[in-house]
Amino acid sequence: MRNPVPDLLDEVRRACVDGDEGELLDTIPELADADPDRFAIALCTIDGTVYGTGDDEHRFTIQSISKPFAYALALADRGRESVLEHVGVEPSGDAFNEISLEQNGRPRNPMINIGAIATHALVGEAGMSRERRDVRVREGLSAFAGRDLEVDEAVFDSERSESSRNLALAYLVHAQEKLDGEPHDAVEGYIRQCALLVDVRDLAVMAMTLAAGGRNPVTGQQVVPTWVCTQVLSVMATCGMYDAAGDWMSTVGIPAKSGVAGGVLGSLPGQVGIGTFSPRLDEIGNSVRGVRAFERLSAELGLHLMHAP
Ligand code: GLU
Repeated sequence: MRNPVPDLLDEVRRACVDGDEGELLDTIPELADADPDRFAIALCTIDGTVYGTGDDEHRFTIQSISKPFAYALALADRGRESVLEHVGVEPSGDAFNEISLEQNGRPRNPMINIGAIATHALVGEAGMSRERRDVRVREGLSAFAGRDLEVDEAVFDSERSESSRNLALAYLVHAQEKLDGEPHDAVEGYIRQCALLVDVRDLAVMAMTLAAGGRNPVTGQQVVPTWVCTQVLSVMATCGMYDAAGDWMSTVGIPAKSGVAGGVLGSLPGQVGIGTFSPRLDEIGNSVRGVRAFERLSAELGLHLMHAP
């Protein structure tokens, strides 16, 4: 029997490609030059088969989609209690770059910048040099993807030249004694983490690795322990889609994370990993076509987490 998945992906891509709603991000100068019409979807199954359609080999910077993976590495390296001392797990309902702290000074969650910067600083051992931590982050995310990921140095430089807001966030966390290390180091490392290059096929494999309890279905490597994935997917489900996380959960129903370069990653426990890419963003910062494609895939394949079979 003919495999229906490639046809379904093509059909979803065609159904979601029309229109030019949304805007390219303008806060990172280098990203403003992206081709707005690119569109790609990929899906990875639990046996490690990857399907793709559209610009599925086009690389873009991972941006905020790196946050759940850095959180996974921090949990694996430092343990749950130690990470929770520094970063909470409550949805903020605020924009990604808001000053969002709890009463006790802890950033609300690791999916917004203020919490992601604190989380980045927890990857690896305490006191590790910035360079060694960068290597741990790059190698860790590469293990999730199943190939060596590289940094886009132009995007890194571009974002570093505009990093006052992220630095301000890092200094705030530092002042609350919730940052392990120096604000400048944490922000530089975090920006390098965001500048790693991926395509949608990588996103699908990374998502499936989380959905498979930490075992990369393509390489067979156990990247992080299974309990880490439970924690990460829970936080993605409640905090992953900027301030549209509740809306997303009710319509799409898949733990997910989006990034300002136009990527969206969705990870359905035990079932499937999905990646999409299209650079035009809605007012909240989520890819317009990416959201549409996820809504459609969730409906066609019955993927909503709360859907009783
Ligand atoms: N590197 C971006 C920033 O820190 C990531 C933002 C995002 O993708 O949400 O502003």
